[in-house]
Amino acid sequence: MKMPPIPMPDENGFFGEYGGQFIPPELKSVMDEITAAYLEIRDSAAFQHELHELQSTYIGRPSPLFYAKRLSEHLGGARIFLKREDLNHTGAHKINHCIGEALLAKHMGKKKVLAETGAGQHGVALATACALVGIPCEIHMGQVDIEKEHPNVTKMKILGCKLVAVTRGTATLKDAVDSAFEAYLQDPVNSIYAIGSVVGPHPFPMMVRDFQQVVGEEARAQFLALEGRLPTRITACVGGGSNAMGLFTAFLDDEDVQIVGVEPAGHGLDTPDHAATLTLGAPGVLHGFKCYNLQDAQGNPLPVYSIASGLDYPGVGPQHCFLKDIKRVDYATATDQECLDAFMTLSRMEGIIPALESAHAVAYAMREAPAMGRDQTILVNLSGRGDKDADFVAARLGL
Ligand SMILES: *Cc1c(COP(=O)(O)O)cnc(C)c1O
Repeated sequence: MKMPPIPMPDENGFFGEYGGQFIPPELKSVMDEITAAYLEIRDSAAFQHELHELQSTYIGRPSPLFYAKRLSEHLGGARIFLKREDLNHTGAHKINHCIGEALLAKHMGKKKVLAETGAGQHGVALATACALVGIPCEIHMGQVDIEKEHPNVTKMKILGCKLVAVTRGTATLKDAVDSAFEAYLQDPVNSIYAIGSVVGPHPFPMMVRDFQQVVGEEARAQFLALEGRLPTRITACVGGGSNAMGLFTAFLDDEDVQIVGVEPAGHGLDTPDHAATLTLGAPGVLHGFKCYNLQDAQGNPLPVYSIASGLDYPGVGPQHCFLKDIKRVDYATATDQECLDAFMTLSRMEGIIPALESAHAVAYAMREAPAMGRDQTILVNLSGRGDKDADFVAARLGL
């Protein structure tokens, strides 16, 4: 079947019926300014040059494409390849869009970059990018998370960002979002809110995707050079969906390439403890945009859960919602248990300790590969490294 070219999003920020800007009018004018500034730098040769320089000399791009030979032979069946985003500076894909957002903030003459963080991964990547670009950074984090995520808290302090401890409510991610957003609304002219995934009101889903797109462009060229053809299937974990959109975008027009996003099934899809938004959610409005989300009968976001803190978001990027509806991308799930198995198996068969988030995509590949032919291939986006999760997994497994 020939897919029509998909210009996404439209001028109002919609991917089909998803995305858009469901925000108060005063914020709409601010978002429109960000959109205009972004479109201007996106087409500027000077900006693209600066971004490419930083991608190669600072992040360490291109990240390698690695054939997981021992893992593939152990499973028997499709051969598995890993796009090594875990080898980026700061250890994950998030630095790709944080540098873009920091450069945009600087270009717009903003005096401060604001954001929330849950486990601290977005906070560290953003604090890093702001130190690099030379712009003040303020991160809001729940007190409970501050106590849990000590190494990331220390890193953010060393990197010079202002850390705001949020004690209201349950003192976790949602309260941090509310707190950071209130701080932003006090002065949206001089500050910018740096969203950590392909979510939020337009232009963020488009902009973060564009900054992540380099992952798929590199992987596609690397795979072709190595194998002389495209992969049978590509896969990535989906929280908000940025590392997945980064990989998928370059392959959307390759009709023969199967694309699969993997959501966290937590304790199981038949329990309340999961974050399988596309698998079990329904369309609604959340955090200023329309997407599938997990909500109760009154339309309030449900508490979500995953062993990987980077995946427990009750919404998902609007382009994923569109790609699900038109059936260009399939969405599967992996449980906590499958994730832990994949975490240990990849560590012991390849000497690569994956982030628990990325281990969901590895788990999917491990489940599927045995039933596929030896001539078939699966390309997995290894979105980050697992140093941050090592102590937790060791304690959990009694190592
Ligand atoms: C934050 C994070 C994710 C989830 O975010 P997406 O926007 O869905 O990519 C995945 N992997 C790692 C390593 C992360 O740090």
